[in-house]
Amino acid sequence: MTLPRSKFEEPVLGRLRDPFGGLFADQQVPPRESLVDTPSARAWFELLRWGYENDLYTYQPPLEGRSGVRVRVDGEWLLMLSSYDYLGFIGHPRITQAAVAAVREYGTGTGGVRLLTGTTDLHLELERELANFKGTEAAITFSTGYGANLAVIPALIGPRDRVLVDAKAHRSIIDACRLSRASVHRFEHNDMTALEKLLSAQPGGRTLVVVEGIYSMDGDTTPLPAVVALKERYGAFLMVDEAHSFGVLGDCGRGVDEHFGVPAGAVDVWTGSLSKAIPSNGGFVTGSQELVTYLQHAGAPFVFSSALCPAAAAAAREALRVLRAEPERLGILREIGRRLRAGLQALGYDIGQSESCVVPVLLGEDEVAYQVARRLRSFGVLVTAIVRPAVPLGAARLRLCATAGHSAADIDEALGAFAAL
Ligand code: PMP
Repeated sequence: MTLPRSKFEEPVLGRLRDPFGGLFADQQVPPRESLVDTPSARAWFELLRWGYENDLYTYQPPLEGRSGVRVRVDGEWLLMLSSYDYLGFIGHPRITQAAVAAVREYGTGTGGVRLLTGTTDLHLELERELANFKGTEAAITFSTGYGANLAVIPALIGPRDRVLVDAKAHRSIIDACRLSRASVHRFEHNDMTALEKLLSAQPGGRTLVVVEGIYSMDGDTTPLPAVVALKERYGAFLMVDEAHSFGVLGDCGRGVDEHFGVPAGAVDVWTGSLSKAIPSNGGFVTGSQELVTYLQHAGAPFVFSSALCPAAAAAAREALRVLRAEPERLGILREIGRRLRAGLQALGYDIGQSESCVVPVLLGEDEVAYQVARRLRSFGVLVTAIVRPAVPLGAARLRLCATAGHSAADIDEALGAFAAL
């Protein structure tokens, strides 16, 4: 591998902890037969060894305490600029209190999968409130957002059908498509001409179009009214993953439909995560009662994987209530996102098509992204470098997240670090 030399490749302050359990500490790792002796694993190890030797590996920083605008890592306080806690809800007293009360009342686990003995009244209330908030008939929750996507697509779509997926769709959607054994066609990101071209070639089976509310690596939004018009014109079904737009877009945070003034019923399947704007864990699907009843019996992660733990269900339910009570957080989030985007652009950074609180800083080579993340860390700012396979080779970036917890001064502090790079 040729490693680029850039102005960032210079000694940095202090040495990061060894997160590899000594794997790269010896010059010589003894050759042995190993399950991870594959071309892909070797490429990873080469890159990771380079990161280790140059003190540039900034992943898995162990937070000492709860996440928030300021986090402590290895005894040092850092400004967090890559957290999904978009509403600044982690640590909100009402949400924390709800989780603690749930542990006292329900214990730490449910002892079962949802279909059998894992359902509590907390789960049912959370689902009712999610459906009500989203304006759909019903909702179903899963223990992760990844699991929600894995549940839906294989349950609804089979080998005789096809799925048309935006080229920037999340890995969970791609894995779900593979499980479904449907034919999968990727269309150019947000390109309605490309989508229409695929839709107009009508084969025998059904067609599901899959897009995301806000794209997690780019921070741009799906053009929902145009997608809905196309799916209606060609008789296709539509699924929208709202992992990053639920609790973020729209005046009340209902999502990308509220943002564009599209009725929630225009989309057949909504999926989302409870681990981002909603500061918990878990995932959900909302839609018709018929869809939800079917997924309760045919959605494999609902039937074969454990229920969301009670503390997570209670925290998510309370977060929905706090969001209704404190909608001003959405205005703050928009303003903080705008300040971050404008500030980076004024400094000459390329933020692509970002129009939300998710703001990429496009850098190119993986190694440069590692170097810039490490340098920012030495200035007290914690950001994540996004490299392959999350983005294609040559499209590495930092992925910054503005949150309603940040103040204008926090963003200016971060911009000061970018200015000093
Ligand atoms: N969909 C998208 C678009 C995501 O970005 C993510 C997580 N980053 C998920 C689904 C999975 O959500 P979870 O983390 O709750 O499993």
